[in-house]
Amino acid sequence: PADTTTTTTASEPPKKFPKGIVLGKDGKPCRSCTSFAAWASQTKKSTTTTPKPPTAVPKDCPPDVETLGRSGWTLLHSIAATYPTQPTSAEQSDVRSFMRLFARLYPCWTCGEDFTRYMASGNKPVRTGSRDELGTWLCEAHNEVNRKLGKEVFDCARWEERWRTGWKD
Ligand code: FAD
Repeated sequence: PADTTTTTTASEPPKKFPKGIVLGKDGKPCRSCTSFAAWASQTKKSTTTTPKPPTAVPKDCPPDVETLGRSGWTLLHSIAATYPTQPTSAEQSDVRSFMRLFARLYPCWTCGEDFTRYMASGNKPVRTGSRDELGTWLCEAHNEVNRKLGKEVFDCARWEERWRTGWKD
């Protein structure tokens, strides 16, 4: 059926999961790749007496893909906001390595693999020549994900107001 995800391994019969559950490379549901709403739906019981699951991730629960994403972008944009205006070649090399490893280690593996592909695609390697170059590159990378998810794109001329100086009124 269209509302389930099916997986199988050589030793186990196929398992079905509700739509929206992203599987990890081990074939099990990947919590940090899945929205809380989809995650909660797999534990929902069909009886009418069962209380509805909460709609937002409780503060003391492992992060879903959205909570993790907001924290991830906050870290990345804040790194750009404090990056030197005239970085040394060592600082440029550090930020390139960081982005590569960040994408490889990112707990939502599908997100990380897409980010790795974005950086590898011909004209999109990390731009590290100055704070503004890095901040604008990151804003464009974030917009690529926004487009993929059907979210509004952000005006990259204003990345520094959002992440460093605060809004000009
Ligand atoms: P977020 O997109 O998290 O943005 C946080 C804040 O950043 C916004 O409130 C806004 O003020 C500001 N902002 C928005 N756009 C920009 C921009 N272009 N430049 C600067 N600031 C901006 N989720 C998936 O479901 N699938 C994916 O493949 C996926 N890939 C991701 C890859 C990476 C590297 C990261 C860090 C996250 C990824 N996410 C992915 C998570 C997703 O991007 C969002 O973080 C999540 O959906 C929560 O979105 P949000 O609307 O709260 O705002």
